Amino acid sequence: MTAIDWERRLLAQQGLEIRQRHIWGAVQGYGSDRDCEVPATAFFLHIAVVDDPGDLLGTEDQVARNIEAIGQSRFGSGMSYNALAFNTGRLYEAQPLTRRGTHTVNTFERTHCPTHPGSLTAPGWNNNVNARALCLPQQVDDPVTDAQIDAAARWAAVQIRAGLAAPWARWHGHRCVTAKDCPGGRAFDRINELQALTEHYVKNGLEDIVTKDEMNQVADMVVDKLLAAEVGEDRTVKAALRMASKAPAAARDLQRTLTEKIQSALLSEPGDVAVTVTAEQIEEAVKAALREGTGA
Ligand SMILES: [Zn+2]
Ligand SMILES: [Zn+2]
Repeated sequence: MTAIDWERRLLAQQGLEIRQRHIWGAVQGYGSDRDCEVPATAFFLHIAVVDDPGDLLGTEDQVARNIEAIGQSRFGSGMSYNALAFNTGRLYEAQPLTRRGTHTVNTFERTHCPTHPGSLTAPGWNNNVNARALCLPQQVDDPVTDAQIDAAARWAAVQIRAGLAAPWARWHGHRCVTAKDCPGGRAFDRINELQALTEHYVKNGLEDIVTKDEMNQVADMVVDKLLAAEVGEDRTVKAALRMASKAPAAARDLQRTLTEKIQSALLSEPGDVAVTVTAEQIEEAVKAALREGTGA
């Protein structure tokens, strides 16, 4: 069953940014059932062999609509692929992850790839059933940018982290399963790099990772900066600074409170666990610590 809201929620929870179909102007409907297997067991890289004339949203939207029109005219079910990754690094929604695409068929009937690890088997040798496809919207001789590889890696990694793809799902090129040049030599040569980057994001998530040691350093740095500051931004900060500047003991208290508050706000478990934090969380933790440290 096609489950578009569910898919979008899972990807967003993992921090993936992707331009949705109604934003880029998809004209086909994607809600009808075209059964596929979830979790996916492989990822395929394709190339659309179309011009990508600019690095602007407007031109990329037009390219996406062109690729949709090509897929629709050939197969009658909208975009052939599950996502596009432009050379700007922008990701575009294509065929939903829970609706079968059309472009990846294992005409070699290969169980395994001669170039990459991971299974290529599929029901009826139709990899659209159990694999997901990402397309590079460009010509074969166009550069494959680092931003594109990064975007493709993020896209695959969040699927694994969200349970939409199996942990053992691996990247392949379209040519791994059929007698085509797709995804072109430039893209094919970067598949091992794409796989390694995908594994990095599977392990760490898309956000920056901060260890407890790094968190202590951040806390120390924040305190140092606050104590060195001439004027605080709000009255709470000002009061804390004034108090700290007058008494070394108060400064130590403030530093300890800050460090504890930051750690408790950011670390869900004690010990050297890796955590995901945002600048907003750090700011909130500092403000909470200052409120508590000054009784304000
Ligand atoms: Zn292809
Ligand atoms: Zn392969």
